Amino acid sequence: MGNNIRNFNRREFLSHSLTGLAGAGLAGVTGGKLFAQEMTPKADAEMHRKEIIQRTLGRTGLKIPIVSMGVMNASIPNIIQQSYEKGIRLFDTAAVYQNGRNETMVGDVVKKMGIRDKVIIITKEMTPENRNGSETEMRDKLIAGLEDSLKRLQTDYVDILCIHSCSTAEDVNHPGFNEGMQILKDRKLIRFSGVTSHQGQPPVLNAVAENGAYDVAIIAFNFALAGYEELSTAMDKAAAAGVGLIAMKTQAGGEWWKYVHNEELGEVNQTASLKWALNYQQIATAIPGHVTPEQLDQNFSVAYDFAYTEDEKKYLQSKNVVLGMNFCRQCQSCLASCPKGVDIPSLMRVHMYAAQYRNFDMARYTYDTLPSQKSLAQCRDCATCTAQCAFNRDIDGRIQELKLIYA
Ligand code: SF4
Ligand code: SF4
Repeated sequence: MGNNIRNFNRREFLSHSLTGLAGAGLAGVTGGKLFAQEMTPKADAEMHRKEIIQRTLGRTGLKIPIVSMGVMNASIPNIIQQSYEKGIRLFDTAAVYQNGRNETMVGDVVKKMGIRDKVIIITKEMTPENRNGSETEMRDKLIAGLEDSLKRLQTDYVDILCIHSCSTAEDVNHPGFNEGMQILKDRKLIRFSGVTSHQGQPPVLNAVAENGAYDVAIIAFNFALAGYEELSTAMDKAAAAGVGLIAMKTQAGGEWWKYVHNEELGEVNQTASLKWALNYQQIATAIPGHVTPEQLDQNFSVAYDFAYTEDEKKYLQSKNVVLGMNFCRQCQSCLASCPKGVDIPSLMRVHMYAAQYRNFDMARYTYDTLPSQKSLAQCRDCATCTAQCAFNRDIDGRIQELKLIYA
Protein backbone atom coordinates (compact mmCIF):
# COMPACT_ATOMS: atom_id res chain seq x y z
CA MET A 1 0.00 0.00 0.00
CA GLY A 2 1.41 3.37 -0.88
CA ASN A 3 0.59 6.94 -0.20
CA ASN A 4 0.80 8.58 -3.56
CA ILE A 5 -0.80 11.99 -3.50
CA ARG A 6 -0.48 12.19 -7.25
CA ASN A 7 -3.01 9.44 -7.69
CA PHE A 8 -5.41 11.31 -5.52
CA ASN A 9 -7.83 13.74 -7.07
CA ARG A 10 -6.30 16.97 -5.82
CA ARG A 11 -9.46 18.99 -6.16
CA GLU A 12 -11.33 16.43 -4.13
CA PHE A 13 -8.51 16.55 -1.65
CA LEU A 14 -8.43 20.32 -1.43
CA SER A 15 -12.17 20.51 -1.21
CA HIS A 16 -12.09 18.81 2.18
CA SER A 17 -11.93 21.62 4.66
CA LEU A 18 -10.01 21.03 7.83
CA THR A 19 -13.02 21.63 9.99
CA GLY A 20 -15.09 19.31 7.88
CA LEU A 21 -12.58 16.53 8.14
CA ALA A 22 -12.27 16.97 11.86
CA GLY A 23 -16.00 16.99 12.25
CA ALA A 24 -16.30 13.87 10.15
CA GLY A 25 -13.74 12.14 12.29
CA LEU A 26 -11.38 11.77 9.33
CA ALA A 27 -9.25 14.50 10.77
CA GLY A 28 -6.58 14.66 8.15
CA VAL A 29 -5.33 17.65 6.28
CA THR A 30 -4.24 15.19 3.69
CA GLY A 31 -7.78 13.97 3.18
CA GLY A 32 -9.11 10.68 4.38
CA LYS A 33 -8.49 8.94 1.08
CA LEU A 34 -4.94 10.00 0.57
CA PHE A 35 -3.23 7.18 2.33
CA ALA A 36 -5.34 4.57 0.62
CA GLN A 37 -3.87 5.36 -2.79
CA GLU A 38 -1.56 2.94 -4.51
CA MET A 39 1.92 4.24 -5.18
CA THR A 40 2.85 4.49 -8.84
CA PRO A 41 6.40 3.40 -9.71
CA LYS A 42 7.24 6.97 -10.77
CA ALA A 43 6.02 8.58 -7.56
CA ASP A 44 7.62 5.91 -5.47
CA ALA A 45 10.91 6.55 -7.24
CA GLU A 46 10.76 10.27 -6.51
CA MET A 47 9.62 9.99 -2.93
CA HIS A 48 12.18 7.40 -1.88
CA ARG A 49 15.08 8.19 -4.16
CA LYS A 50 17.55 8.62 -1.30
CA GLU A 51 19.31 11.31 -3.21
CA ILE A 52 18.46 14.97 -3.19
CA ILE A 53 15.20 15.37 -5.07
CA GLN A 54 15.18 18.27 -7.48
CA ARG A 55 12.46 20.01 -9.44
CA THR A 56 12.46 22.62 -12.16
CA LEU A 57 11.34 26.13 -11.30
CA GLY A 58 8.88 26.80 -14.11
CA ARG A 59 10.16 28.53 -17.21
CA THR A 60 13.36 29.65 -15.48
CA GLY A 61 14.59 26.12 -16.13
CA LEU A 62 16.51 26.23 -12.83
CA LYS A 63 16.77 22.79 -11.25
CA ILE A 64 16.79 23.05 -7.49
CA PRO A 65 16.46 20.78 -4.46
CA ILE A 66 12.90 20.68 -3.19
CA VAL A 67 14.05 22.11 0.15
CA SER A 68 15.68 25.54 0.11
CA MET A 69 16.29 28.14 2.80
CA GLY A 70 14.28 31.16 3.83
CA VAL A 71 16.96 33.29 5.50
CA MET A 72 14.62 35.83 7.08
CA ASN A 73 14.87 34.57 10.67
CA ALA A 74 18.55 33.57 10.55
CA SER A 75 21.13 35.79 12.15
CA ILE A 76 24.12 33.44 12.32
CA PRO A 77 26.20 33.10 9.13
CA ASN A 78 27.19 29.53 9.98
CA ILE A 79 23.69 28.26 9.38
CA ILE A 80 23.86 29.49 5.77
CA GLN A 81 27.21 27.81 5.27
CA GLN A 82 25.95 24.58 6.82
CA SER A 83 22.86 24.74 4.62
CA TYR A 84 25.02 24.94 1.51
CA GLU A 85 27.18 22.07 2.72
CA LYS A 86 24.06 19.97 3.26
CA GLY A 87 22.97 20.59 -0.32
CA ILE A 88 20.73 23.65 -0.22
CA ARG A 89 21.22 25.82 -3.29
CA LEU A 90 18.52 28.48 -3.12
CA PHE A 91 18.61 31.23 -0.49
CA ASP A 92 15.75 33.65 -0.05
CA THR A 93 16.39 37.06 1.51
CA ALA A 94 14.96 40.58 1.12
CA ALA A 95 16.09 44.17 1.34
CA VAL A 96 13.96 44.77 4.43
CA TYR A 97 15.01 41.73 6.44
CA GLN A 98 16.96 42.93 9.43
CA ASN A 99 17.26 46.30 7.74
CA GLY A 100 19.53 44.93 5.03
CA ARG A 101 21.77 42.95 7.40
CA ASN A 102 20.21 39.71 6.19
CA GLU A 103 21.36 40.40 2.63
CA THR A 104 24.81 41.38 3.89
CA MET A 105 25.07 38.12 5.80
CA VAL A 106 24.11 36.08 2.73
CA GLY A 107 26.60 38.04 0.63
CA ASP A 108 29.40 37.55 3.18
CA VAL A 109 28.92 33.78 3.31
CA VAL A 110 28.60 33.33 -0.44
CA LYS A 111 31.69 35.43 -1.06
CA LYS A 112 33.75 33.75 1.64
CA MET A 113 32.84 30.30 0.31
CA GLY A 114 33.34 31.30 -3.33
CA ILE A 115 30.04 29.76 -4.35
CA ARG A 116 28.27 32.56 -6.19
CA ASP A 117 27.89 30.54 -9.39
CA LYS A 118 26.57 27.55 -7.48
CA VAL A 119 23.71 29.21 -5.60
CA ILE A 120 20.46 30.91 -6.47
CA ILE A 121 19.87 34.13 -4.57
CA ILE A 122 16.42 35.65 -4.30
CA THR A 123 15.88 39.11 -2.94
CA LYS A 124 12.88 41.42 -2.79
CA GLU A 125 12.20 45.12 -3.10
CA MET A 126 9.30 47.54 -2.95
CA THR A 127 7.38 46.62 0.17
CA PRO A 128 3.89 48.17 0.13
CA GLU A 129 4.81 51.24 2.17
CA ASN A 130 7.32 52.18 -0.55
CA ARG A 131 4.70 52.20 -3.25
CA ASN A 132 4.02 55.86 -3.65
CA GLY A 133 4.88 58.13 -6.50
CA SER A 134 4.48 58.13 -10.25
CA GLU A 135 5.05 55.08 -12.43
CA THR A 136 8.45 56.41 -13.38
CA GLU A 137 9.37 57.04 -9.74
CA MET A 138 8.31 53.52 -8.79
CA ARG A 139 10.37 52.09 -11.64
CA ASP A 140 13.39 54.07 -10.51
CA LYS A 141 12.88 53.09 -6.87
CA LEU A 142 12.83 49.44 -7.85
CA ILE A 143 16.06 49.81 -9.81
CA ALA A 144 17.78 51.83 -7.08
CA GLY A 145 16.64 49.34 -4.44
CA LEU A 146 18.14 46.45 -6.37
CA GLU A 147 21.39 48.34 -6.87
CA ASP A 148 21.64 48.80 -3.09
CA SER A 149 20.86 45.12 -2.54
CA LEU A 150 23.62 44.10 -4.94
CA LYS A 151 26.10 46.07 -2.85
CA ARG A 152 24.98 44.34 0.34
CA LEU A 153 24.96 40.96 -1.38
CA GLN A 154 28.38 41.71 -2.88
CA THR A 155 27.43 40.34 -6.26
CA ASP A 156 26.88 41.61 -9.80
CA TYR A 157 23.43 40.08 -10.15
CA VAL A 158 20.66 38.32 -8.30
CA ASP A 159 19.03 35.27 -9.77
CA ILE A 160 15.47 36.24 -8.90
CA LEU A 161 14.21 39.65 -7.88
CA CYS A 162 10.71 39.80 -6.45
CA ILE A 163 8.24 42.59 -5.82
CA HIS A 164 7.71 42.16 -2.08
CA SER A 165 4.20 41.40 -0.79
CA CYS A 166 1.81 41.81 -3.69
CA SER A 167 -1.81 41.53 -2.64
CA THR A 168 -3.71 42.70 -5.72
CA ALA A 169 -3.63 42.34 -9.49
CA GLU A 170 -2.78 46.05 -9.61
CA ASP A 171 0.46 45.37 -7.73
CA VAL A 172 1.40 42.75 -10.31
CA ASN A 173 0.40 44.83 -13.30
CA HIS A 174 2.00 48.06 -12.14
CA PRO A 175 3.65 49.53 -15.27
CA GLY A 176 6.57 50.94 -13.26
CA PHE A 177 7.39 47.52 -11.82
CA ASN A 178 6.99 45.75 -15.15
CA GLU A 179 9.23 48.24 -16.91
CA GLY A 180 11.78 48.27 -14.09
CA MET A 181 12.07 44.48 -14.14
CA GLN A 182 12.66 44.51 -17.88
CA ILE A 183 15.35 47.17 -17.56
CA LEU A 184 17.08 45.14 -14.84
CA LYS A 185 16.95 42.01 -17.01
CA ASP A 186 18.35 43.92 -19.98
CA ARG A 187 21.19 45.24 -17.80
CA LYS A 188 21.76 41.65 -16.60
CA LEU A 189 21.41 42.73 -12.98
CA ILE A 190 18.72 40.09 -12.49
CA ARG A 191 18.16 36.80 -14.27
CA PHE A 192 14.49 36.37 -13.45
CA SER A 193 11.65 38.39 -11.98
CA GLY A 194 9.01 37.41 -9.48
CA VAL A 195 6.46 38.41 -6.90
CA THR A 196 5.76 37.34 -3.36
CA SER A 197 2.28 37.24 -1.90
CA HIS A 198 0.86 36.74 1.56
CA GLN A 199 -2.57 38.18 0.97
CA GLY A 200 -5.02 37.89 -1.89
CA GLN A 201 -2.97 35.12 -3.43
CA PRO A 202 -5.54 33.97 -6.02
CA PRO A 203 -5.87 37.34 -7.79
CA VAL A 204 -2.11 37.83 -7.60
CA LEU A 205 -1.41 34.43 -9.17
CA ASN A 206 -4.04 34.96 -11.83
CA ALA A 207 -2.46 38.28 -12.72
CA VAL A 208 1.02 36.77 -12.80
CA ALA A 209 -0.23 34.04 -15.14
CA GLU A 210 -1.80 36.58 -17.47
CA ASN A 211 0.77 39.36 -17.25
CA GLY A 212 3.81 37.43 -18.45
CA ALA A 213 6.28 39.83 -16.82
CA TYR A 214 7.10 37.54 -13.90
CA ASP A 215 8.82 34.17 -13.95
CA VAL A 216 8.35 33.16 -10.32
CA ALA A 217 5.77 33.50 -7.55
CA ILE A 218 6.54 32.88 -3.88
CA ILE A 219 3.34 32.08 -2.04
CA ALA A 220 2.33 31.14 1.48
CA PHE A 221 1.28 27.51 1.12
CA ASN A 222 0.55 25.09 3.90
CA PHE A 223 -2.06 22.64 5.03
CA ALA A 224 -4.11 25.38 6.64
CA LEU A 225 -5.05 26.15 3.05
CA ALA A 226 -6.63 22.76 2.39
CA GLY A 227 -10.01 23.40 0.85
CA TYR A 228 -9.09 26.78 -0.60
CA GLU A 229 -10.21 25.94 -4.10
CA GLU A 230 -9.72 29.44 -5.48
CA LEU A 231 -6.05 29.27 -4.56
CA SER A 232 -5.45 25.82 -6.03
CA THR A 233 -7.11 26.89 -9.29
CA ALA A 234 -4.90 29.98 -9.47
CA MET A 235 -1.81 27.89 -8.73
CA ASP A 236 -2.71 25.56 -11.58
CA LYS A 237 -3.17 28.51 -13.90
CA ALA A 238 0.15 30.09 -12.95
CA ALA A 239 2.04 26.82 -13.27
CA ALA A 240 0.44 26.15 -16.67
CA ALA A 241 1.67 29.58 -17.79
CA GLY A 242 5.22 28.56 -16.86
CA VAL A 243 5.46 30.47 -13.59
CA GLY A 244 7.75 28.75 -11.11
CA LEU A 245 6.05 28.35 -7.71
CA ILE A 246 7.93 28.48 -4.42
CA ALA A 247 6.21 27.74 -1.11
CA MET A 248 6.88 29.80 2.00
CA LYS A 249 5.32 29.50 5.45
CA THR A 250 5.05 25.78 4.81
CA GLN A 251 5.14 24.92 8.50
CA ALA A 252 2.13 27.14 8.98
CA GLY A 253 3.31 28.61 12.15
CA GLY A 254 5.31 25.95 13.88
CA GLU A 255 5.82 27.30 17.33
CA TRP A 256 2.52 29.09 17.15
CA TRP A 257 0.71 25.86 17.75
CA LYS A 258 2.56 25.24 20.94
CA TYR A 259 1.94 28.80 21.99
CA VAL A 260 -1.79 28.46 21.66
CA HIS A 261 -2.47 24.77 22.11
CA ASN A 262 0.42 23.54 24.16
CA GLU A 263 -1.55 21.08 26.23
CA GLU A 264 -3.40 19.48 23.37
CA LEU A 265 -0.88 19.42 20.55
CA GLY A 266 2.44 18.58 22.07
CA GLU A 267 5.38 18.79 19.71
CA VAL A 268 4.88 20.25 16.26
CA ASN A 269 5.75 17.84 13.48
CA GLN A 270 7.70 20.12 11.16
CA THR A 271 8.54 17.51 8.54
CA ALA A 272 4.93 16.44 8.15
CA SER A 273 3.97 20.03 7.40
CA LEU A 274 6.81 20.52 4.93
CA LYS A 275 5.99 17.28 3.15
CA TRP A 276 2.37 18.32 2.80
CA ALA A 277 3.38 21.36 0.73
CA LEU A 278 5.89 19.41 -1.35
CA ASN A 279 3.39 16.74 -2.18
CA TYR A 280 1.82 19.37 -4.39
CA GLN A 281 3.79 18.83 -7.56
CA GLN A 282 3.47 22.39 -8.83
CA ILE A 283 5.61 23.60 -5.94
CA ALA A 284 9.22 23.49 -7.13
CA THR A 285 10.78 24.10 -3.75
CA ALA A 286 9.95 25.26 -0.24
CA ILE A 287 11.85 27.85 1.81
CA PRO A 288 11.50 26.88 5.47
CA GLY A 289 13.35 29.19 7.84
CA HIS A 290 15.63 26.95 9.87
CA VAL A 291 17.88 28.78 12.33
CA THR A 292 19.66 25.88 14.05
CA PRO A 293 21.63 22.88 12.72
CA GLU A 294 18.97 20.59 14.16
CA GLN A 295 16.19 22.36 12.28
CA LEU A 296 18.33 22.30 9.14
CA ASP A 297 18.85 18.54 9.45
CA GLN A 298 15.18 17.99 10.05
CA ASN A 299 14.03 20.14 7.14
CA PHE A 300 16.60 18.90 4.68
CA SER A 301 15.87 15.25 5.39
CA VAL A 302 12.66 15.90 3.47
CA ALA A 303 14.70 16.68 0.33
CA TYR A 304 15.63 12.99 0.22
CA ASP A 305 12.27 11.47 0.96
CA PHE A 306 8.96 13.26 1.21
CA ALA A 307 6.76 10.23 1.76
CA TYR A 308 4.98 10.46 5.08
CA THR A 309 6.14 8.26 7.90
CA GLU A 310 3.51 6.50 9.96
CA ASP A 311 4.02 9.04 12.74
CA GLU A 312 3.58 11.92 10.32
CA LYS A 313 0.37 10.42 8.99
CA LYS A 314 -0.95 10.05 12.48
CA TYR A 315 0.05 13.59 13.28
CA LEU A 316 -1.60 15.10 10.21
CA GLN A 317 -4.71 13.06 10.82
CA SER A 318 -5.01 13.90 14.48
CA LYS A 319 -8.10 15.77 15.44
CA ASN A 320 -6.22 18.18 17.64
CA VAL A 321 -3.94 19.23 14.84
CA VAL A 322 -6.81 19.85 12.50
CA LEU A 323 -8.77 21.81 15.04
CA GLY A 324 -5.70 23.59 16.30
CA MET A 325 -4.64 24.70 12.86
CA ASN A 326 -5.64 28.27 13.02
CA PHE A 327 -3.40 29.91 10.48
CA CYS A 328 -4.83 33.00 8.80
CA ARG A 329 -5.25 32.28 5.09
CA GLN A 330 -4.78 35.94 4.17
CA CYS A 331 -7.82 35.61 1.94
CA GLN A 332 -9.09 39.13 2.75
CA SER A 333 -12.69 37.96 3.13
CA CYS A 334 -12.89 39.69 6.50
CA LEU A 335 -12.06 43.14 5.18
CA ALA A 336 -15.64 44.07 4.39
CA SER A 337 -16.81 43.10 7.86
CA CYS A 338 -14.81 45.75 9.71
CA PRO A 339 -16.81 48.99 9.79
CA LYS A 340 -13.60 51.00 10.06
CA GLY A 341 -11.72 49.45 7.17
CA VAL A 342 -8.92 47.96 9.27
CA ASP A 343 -6.41 45.82 7.38
CA ILE A 344 -7.19 42.72 9.41
CA PRO A 345 -5.10 40.27 7.31
CA SER A 346 -1.99 42.36 7.91
CA LEU A 347 -2.72 42.51 11.63
CA MET A 348 -3.10 38.73 11.62
CA ARG A 349 0.32 38.55 9.98
CA VAL A 350 1.80 40.86 12.61
CA HIS A 351 0.38 38.53 15.21
CA MET A 352 1.85 35.52 13.43
CA TYR A 353 5.32 37.05 13.26
CA ALA A 354 5.23 37.97 16.93
CA ALA A 355 3.46 35.02 18.50
CA GLN A 356 4.49 32.27 16.14
CA TYR A 357 7.88 33.11 14.72
CA ARG A 358 8.91 35.21 17.72
CA ASN A 359 10.37 37.57 15.13
CA PHE A 360 9.48 40.82 16.84
CA ASP A 361 11.49 42.91 14.40
CA MET A 362 9.41 41.64 11.51
CA ALA A 363 6.22 42.03 13.52
CA ARG A 364 7.09 45.61 14.33
CA TYR A 365 8.14 46.31 10.77
CA THR A 366 4.89 44.94 9.35
CA TYR A 367 2.90 46.79 11.98
CA ASP A 368 4.62 50.04 11.14
CA THR A 369 3.80 49.70 7.43
CA LEU A 370 0.08 50.04 8.14
CA PRO A 371 -1.38 53.51 7.67
CA SER A 372 -3.12 54.64 10.85
CA GLN A 373 -6.57 54.57 9.23
CA LYS A 374 -6.14 50.82 8.65
CA SER A 375 -4.20 49.94 11.77
CA LEU A 376 -4.85 48.83 15.31
CA ALA A 377 -5.41 52.45 16.27
CA GLN A 378 -8.90 52.07 14.83
CA CYS A 379 -9.64 49.14 17.13
CA ARG A 380 -9.22 50.99 20.38
CA ASP A 381 -12.91 51.78 20.79
CA CYS A 382 -14.08 48.24 20.02
CA ALA A 383 -14.45 46.28 23.24
CA THR A 384 -14.95 43.20 21.07
CA CYS A 385 -14.05 42.78 17.43
CA THR A 386 -17.15 42.12 15.36
CA ALA A 387 -15.25 41.31 12.14
CA GLN A 388 -16.05 37.93 10.68
CA CYS A 389 -13.50 35.41 9.46
CA ALA A 390 -14.61 33.18 6.59
CA PHE A 391 -12.57 30.35 8.12
CA ASN A 392 -13.47 30.82 11.77
CA ARG A 393 -10.12 32.21 12.80
CA ASP A 394 -10.22 34.00 16.12
CA ILE A 395 -9.82 37.57 14.89
CA ASP A 396 -11.04 39.07 18.13
CA GLY A 397 -8.60 37.05 20.25
CA ARG A 398 -5.64 38.10 18.14
CA ILE A 399 -6.71 41.74 18.01
CA GLN A 400 -6.97 41.76 21.79
CA GLU A 401 -3.49 40.25 22.10
CA LEU A 402 -2.09 42.79 19.65
CA LYS A 403 -3.64 45.54 21.72
CA LEU A 404 -1.67 44.28 24.72
CA ILE A 405 1.54 44.50 22.71
CA TYR A 406 1.01 47.64 20.70
CA ALA A 407 -1.53 49.71 22.60
S1 SF4 B 1 -8.80 36.48 9.29
FE1 SF4 B 1 -10.01 34.95 8.18
S2 SF4 B 1 -11.16 36.04 6.60
FE2 SF4 B 1 -9.49 37.39 7.33
S3 SF4 B 1 -7.78 37.01 5.94
FE3 SF4 B 1 -7.49 35.63 7.70
S4 SF4 B 1 -8.50 33.72 7.08
FE4 SF4 B 1 -9.25 35.30 5.67
S1 SF4 C 1 -11.70 45.63 16.57
FE1 SF4 C 1 -13.23 46.96 15.53
S2 SF4 C 1 -11.99 48.29 14.20
FE2 SF4 C 1 -10.69 46.58 14.80
S3 SF4 C 1 -10.90 45.06 13.17
FE3 SF4 C 1 -12.43 44.55 14.73
S4 SF4 C 1 -14.31 45.60 14.09
FE4 SF4 C 1 -12.59 46.50 12.96
